Amino acid sequence: MADALCAQVDGDVWFPAVGGSAKEAKAICKECPVLEQCLAFAVEHHEVGIWGGTSEKQRRALRREAA
Ligand code: SF4
Repeated sequence: MADALCAQVDGDVWFPAVGGSAKEAKAICKECPVLEQCLAFAVEHHEVGIWGGTSEKQRRALRREAA
């Protein structure tokens, strides 16, 4: 968590409104040194919002693919 870039950014960015853009959050994630660990955690724990450069919808797709 100490290396997570999201800790340095306004929290609203990570929870875009329905139909809103997640572009800013995903761009930050792309530069994050813990992206892989973050994504794995979010997939496993069914987190909400943008995690590991993915939306909830994208993570649902990843879970389906893995099943
Ligand atoms: S990859 Fe995860 S830890 Fe890193 S900025 Fe994105 S949401 Fe935060």
